[in-house]
Amino acid sequence: MGIRSGAQYLESLKDGRDIRIDGERVRDVTTDPRFAGAARTVAQLLDMQHRPDLHERMTYASPSSGERVGLSFIEPRSREDLAARRGAIAVWMNETQGMFGRSPDFMNCFISAFASAAPEFGKRDPRFGQNMRRFYEFCREGDAVMTHVLINPQVDRSKPVDHQEKDLAAKIVRETDRGIVIRGARMVSTLAAFANEIVVMPSSYIANTPGASDYAFGFSIPAATPGMSFISRPSIVPTGAGAVHDYPLSLRLDEGDAMVIFDDVLVPWERVFIHRDVDMCNGLYPRTFLSAHTGHQAAVKALAKSEFMLGLALALARSTKIDGYMHVQGMLAEIMVSVQTVKACIEAAEQNCVTTPFGTVAPDPMPMWVIRLGFPRMFHRMQEIVQLMGASGLVGAPSLAEFSGDAAEMAREYLQSVNSNAEQRSQLCRLAYDASVSSFAGRQQLYERYYTGDPVRLSGLLCSLYPDKEGLTGRIDQLLDELPQKVALPASAPGG
Ligand SMILES: Cc1cc2nc3c(=O)[nH]c(=O)nc-3n(C[C@H](O)[C@H](O)[C@H](O)COP(=O)(O)OP(=O)(O)OC[C@H]3O[C@@H](n4cnc5c(N)ncnc54)[C@H](O)[C@@H]3O)c2cc1C
Repeated sequence: MGIRSGAQYLESLKDGRDIRIDGERVRDVTTDPRFAGAARTVAQLLDMQHRPDLHERMTYASPSSGERVGLSFIEPRSREDLAARRGAIAVWMNETQGMFGRSPDFMNCFISAFASAAPEFGKRDPRFGQNMRRFYEFCREGDAVMTHVLINPQVDRSKPVDHQEKDLAAKIVRETDRGIVIRGARMVSTLAAFANEIVVMPSSYIANTPGASDYAFGFSIPAATPGMSFISRPSIVPTGAGAVHDYPLSLRLDEGDAMVIFDDVLVPWERVFIHRDVDMCNGLYPRTFLSAHTGHQAAVKALAKSEFMLGLALALARSTKIDGYMHVQGMLAEIMVSVQTVKACIEAAEQNCVTTPFGTVAPDPMPMWVIRLGFPRMFHRMQEIVQLMGASGLVGAPSLAEFSGDAAEMAREYLQSVNSNAEQRSQLCRLAYDASVSSFAGRQQLYERYYTGDPVRLSGLLCSLYPDKEGLTGRIDQLLDELPQKVALPASAPGG
């Protein structure tokens, strides 16, 4: 089949999945106003793959069927493949200003990394490696949109999952000849309302004790599997908005986040990738190079997002002619430095890509770490800068309807700025509000802080992974040892 059209995708979401919001079950995410905007956005992204001017850049010939499939599914074997994947991802990221982090390319990179690493999944039992490859090919050939869920619910973080008094985390409750049966919860699944498949993988450390193996699993099932429910957070789509310019980001780009509840869900054996294998769970990410691959997608997102925020800050500064002030230029320069840092990391990661034991290449992990741990702070600061530049303009701008209401004439006169007419100025301020102040903006900030894991524990991981720490401390020891020979103090010097 290969790449799908947006219309085919929207049809596929009418699958009877059990998704809840505001105390009710959603019948059709493609028409419910809380979900329809983002569903349409995903459909538009898929349609872009068919555009004659983008088709070559966004797709490649499937190695199995020859059909054109999404390029973010590629198993990269060279630096050029990585650059091509970046080019494809950038199309979607620029289209969404980097504010729709879970566009399908994220999970496409995720699952292709796992598929390349199928031998790792198959180490204990070759079936699991074969299952992973089959699932990847199924998604690639059918252009399936995926979500994923890794984290146990926040119940008691002071104890390991198998020692919790309230045993709520998803676990294997039994095995049958048809598959494994899962009961419990995971949090959170972004894009749950808009995905065809959910990939459930481990993330937290699992102890090597008999009870803990109940939590040591990995699998994927369709979003509409019986017994699985999604409980969504309230929507941040302002459903009463009169025009898209009033909430230009919220209305299109709310990816949604949902708890996932498994009520004795049967996962067929052919969809199981890890079964009671604690070592595989704990070694999953380094063994598969996953973070470098998803980091590549996230870095392209970070670049699009930074460039968007820079453009926004520049436009705000020009609008009221504050761009001549030195401290404003200082803030603009801060964003410029972030843009260039992100860009340099992407280039370095591709240039110094590493060959994996599976014959694929992965971006150099270290520049990806810079973005993983550094970008949340950069983005937070960009939002702050947009607030500092927009100031009262961010809350002084009315909705577009004001320009056709009773007060239109007044609005047109008094909402002008030196460099913009009133409508332009209001639209710019509404965009800046949505990027830096609204619920959408707050959720973006939280997303950047956490989507790739807890920054505290990630920092600890980087400290343990960082190469050649001994060499670096050795240089300090050497310097201190050699100092007396390097500098011969004059006899009259103090202490001499
Ligand atoms: C907007 C958003 C979207 C997300 N989307 C997805 C998704 O699609 N799929 C998915 O699987 N996950 C998703 N996540 C979850 C994300 O992976 C987690 O937020 C992240 O791993 C942190 O885990 P937590 O939220 O459970 O926080 P917690 O682990 O509960 O941490 C909360 C605080 O407690 C501290 N803490 C807790 N335990 C420890 C410990 N053992 N040692 C030290 N400090 C500790 C942390 O440092 C932190 O300050 C999303 C999160 C957000 C915010």
